[in-house]
Order: sequence, then C-alpha cells, then structure tokens
Amino acid sequence: MFEHLHGLPADPILNLMVQYRQDNNPLKVDLGVGVYKDEQGQTPIMQAVHAAETHLLASETTKTYIGPAGSEGFCFQISRLLLGNDHAVIKDQRITVAQTPGGCGALRVAAEFLAKCDPDTTVWVSDPTWANHIPLLKGANLTITEYPYYDGENKAIRFDAMMSALETAKSGDVVLLHGCCHNPSGADLNHEQWNSIAELVVRKGLIPFVDIAYQGLGDGLVEDTYGARLLADKAPEMLIASSCSKNFGLYRDRTGAVMVISANQTQASVSASNLFSIIRGIYSMPPAHGAAIVETILGNEALTKQWDDELTMMRERILQLRHQLAKEIAACGTEQSFAFIPEQKGMFSFLGIDKAQVAQLKDEYSIYMVDSSRISIAGLSSSNIQYVAQSLSAVLK
Ligand code: PMP
Repeated sequence: MFEHLHGLPADPILNLMVQYRQDNNPLKVDLGVGVYKDEQGQTPIMQAVHAAETHLLASETTKTYIGPAGSEGFCFQISRLLLGNDHAVIKDQRITVAQTPGGCGALRVAAEFLAKCDPDTTVWVSDPTWANHIPLLKGANLTITEYPYYDGENKAIRFDAMMSALETAKSGDVVLLHGCCHNPSGADLNHEQWNSIAELVVRKGLIPFVDIAYQGLGDGLVEDTYGARLLADKAPEMLIASSCSKNFGLYRDRTGAVMVISANQTQASVSASNLFSIIRGIYSMPPAHGAAIVETILGNEALTKQWDDELTMMRERILQLRHQLAKEIAACGTEQSFAFIPEQKGMFSFLGIDKAQVAQLKDEYSIYMVDSSRISIAGLSSSNIQYVAQSLSAVLK
C-alpha cells in the first residue's frame, strides 16, 4: 500500500530553518520563521505564563477527560478577550466557542464545519495569504478562490480591486479575513475599509471568517479586534479562529479557539452540537495545558496585568525595529524607499526584492528569509539590524 505514495518536497520554511542551523557564519540572521524573538534572539517563556504554570502545578488535581469543547473557563475568557465582556452575541447566546489545538486546529475545525453546512462552499482568501490556509481549508474539500489584497509594487492594499472581486461573490460564500497583522504582508485594513467590508458582507449575504492569530501585536489588544467586533455586530452568521501561540508565546502548547456565531439561540445550539461532533471525529478533545495557562492568567487581575505589560513590550519592540530598519536602510543611501515598513503591522513585511536577491542575501551574507522576501521582523535586533540594512543595500545596488 505505502508504495502508492510519492515523496513530497520539504516545507520551505522548515527547510530554511535547517539551512540556518547548519550555517557557521557568526553574522547569520534568521528572518524566516514567524516566532517572536527578544534582543538576545531567544523566544522566552513569558513570566506571566511561568507564574500561571507554577500555580497550576501546585493546584491541579486531575487529568481526567474534559470534552470536545475543552475548558469552559478558557472558552469564556478567550471569547471576552476577543469580543469584549458585553458583546451582544455573548449576551444573546448566539456564540459557540471550542478550545482547539492552536489556531490551525480552529481553522481546520471551522473548515469541516463549513463543509458540513454545504460541501460546495467557496472560501475567498486574500492574495497573498498565509500559505497554510490553503491545506487547512482544502483538507475539508472546500473550494478556494482569491480576492486581490496586497500590491507589492505600491506597498499598499488593493482595496478597490478587493471590493470589486467580493461584489462577484454569491450569497453563502465565505470570506476569510485576517483580523490584524496580515500574514504575510503586514498591511492591515483601516476602520473605514472594515466598515465597507461589513456593509458588503451583510448586503450580499456572505459569511465572514476572521482568522486572528496576532491579537495584541499590532496596535493593541482591543484595537486589533476592530474588524472582528464590527463583523460580529453586523453579520448574522460568522466564524472566528483565534490563536494564543504568539500573544501568550504558547506555540508548542497548541492553544486556540474556534467561535461560531449563529443567527439566533436555537440555531446556536444546533451549530454547537455539529461543531462538537466534528471535533470528536478528528482529535476528540483538545490538549489542556496551554488553555489552562491562558484561563489562569485571564482569570486573575494581577497576572492579566503582568501578561499585558509583557505583550505591550513585545509589540513596542517590533514597532521600534520596524522604524530602525527603515532608518538604517535609508542611511545606506539606498535609492528604494522602505518607509512602508513602520507603517505595517505585526510580525511580517515583504521587503519587495526578487528571488535572486533573496538567494544572494542567503548565500553571500547568511541572511535567511523565504523566497517571497517576507521577513519576520522580530528576527532583527540592535546587534544585527545595521548588518541586515547594509547587506540589503549592497544587494540592491
Ligand atoms: N493564522 C495565521 C495567519 C498565522 O500566521 C498563524 C500562525 N503562524 C495561525 C493562524 C495559527 O498558528 P497556530 O496553529 O500555531 O496557533
């Protein structure tokens, strides 16, 4: 049987990580993988997470099964962190929340939920979008189509083209939107653009599906939810996939949530039973540890404050690196402007250089990034930023 399989190429980012590890150049810089790094190049465990883990270790009394939806306390806290304490969909009991293995788990469960509603569902994704969106949605056999999003020439969102494309969507089509910190472009919708999208989605009977994996790493914990909250206000039906991987630094603990907003309370209980049955058929129940940490932090005022302060520091560091990179490149006398970098949000931006230049940066300067020239900003630090700027400007000359 196994002989029927053909070998598959390695994931390009994982490949890049291996090449980086094997590189002996002391000046090497990893701008590939999308994890937060501090000034020392480490991805540390947040102190609030450590404190919550210590508390959990001392107080946990059982590891018995918990159920497909995971921890009720986690689901309560995470939906309020995203939508606010008093959102109408919570008060009206129109929302179903399930704890998932990371944001990927949430996306995959949501995809299965859509396929169960209608196997012919079409999902519109941004061009470009996070590469893993495609297999996560295709795994449920959904049809994928693209709307224009980022204009690499002008370093701006192609908003008119995006809206024109979505005008051609049919009722019941799903629109996948990045809640904040668009991956890979860093180009986020402004409030006016979100307002227009909400109007279009409601008018045409489209289902918004918000993927929010970087809440708190763009403009702020509440600011980053503008689009998600607005769509939850306006649309009768909606899906949300949220992740705690980046904002709690829980990457390998696989912590996220899927949220389904239904048109009314009766429909919500039907949606819930379907959602939980889908989960039961995939992984049965989510892992507990990461969600217990998040629940402990968000259920304790002092820990929430400590976590919020740490997250603010991470957000501000990324923004400061964005400003510094643009400044250092300009100081090299580079003709091309990189002033767009501090305008963009979150962990990523495209440098906008071609594949040959990306390869040159890797081969001659040991600076690693994916072929599209997407860089992970947190891979920069005060010790390597000048080297990156100088190497880039050398490659551009
Ligand atoms: N969506 C987007 C856009 C992402 O960038 C990520 C993380 N790279 C995720 C979802 C989910 O990640 P995880 O499964 O690690 O929580």
